[in-house]
Amino acid sequence: MPDASAHPGEPHYITRSGWLRAAVLGANDGVVSVSSLIVGVAAANPDPSAVIIAGVAGLSAGAMSMAAGEYVSVSSQSDTERADIARETQALQDFPDEELAELAAIYQDKGLSEETALVVAKELTAHDALGAHVRDELGLSDVHTANPLQAAFTSGVTFSVAAAIPLLAAFLAPAGSIIPVVLVVTVFTLAALGAMGAKAGAAPILRATIRVVVWGVFAMAVTAGVGWLFGVSV
Ligand SMILES: [Zn+2]
Repeated sequence: MPDASAHPGEPHYITRSGWLRAAVLGANDGVVSVSSLIVGVAAANPDPSAVIIAGVAGLSAGAMSMAAGEYVSVSSQSDTERADIARETQALQDFPDEELAELAAIYQDKGLSEETALVVAKELTAHDALGAHVRDELGLSDVHTANPLQAAFTSGVTFSVAAAIPLLAAFLAPAGSIIPVVLVVTVFTLAALGAMGAKAGAAPILRATIRVVVWGVFAMAVTAGVGWLFGVSV
């Protein structure tokens, strides 16, 4: 079937939302949590080997918990979707007339006349009853169908790759300057991540970049403060 898009040159980006959300979340979390950990430990104990060990532990623990968390949350989402679809399948068998009326009411709410809505509901029901109800009543479409493994893999990998940046910066930083080096590298990394995420989703770049950088710097500042307090008190 020919591409019926009214604007073939400008595709919609909503189809990217699933993996994009997991990727941006994973990368952002990776940079912020590991750089904050590094800055916090360095504020308490400037010994480079202690800082690197903490960074490596933070990266592996964070990547695993990110992947596990995504897998569990997306799996429970797809469990709910599957249960809803099973209920809908049963309702279509048990109450076909009520389901048809319900579908027509949905189209009427979207702006069709009562007559047209019923015609559309009848034709779509004849064509693919379950598909019509899943799409127009439950609001599920292929775009939003959850894929737990994809989400887990995406967020785990992006977390690790992004977290490796402040870790590498800490490893390469001259002794005694881990905190400023990691801070500068992290701010640039967050800005790049914010811009990439916005570009991939065709969202306004500047606002997304500022948002990511402000929250990242805030998280690092709080952790550094706690680390410093801890360092003073120990
Ligand atoms: Zn229904």
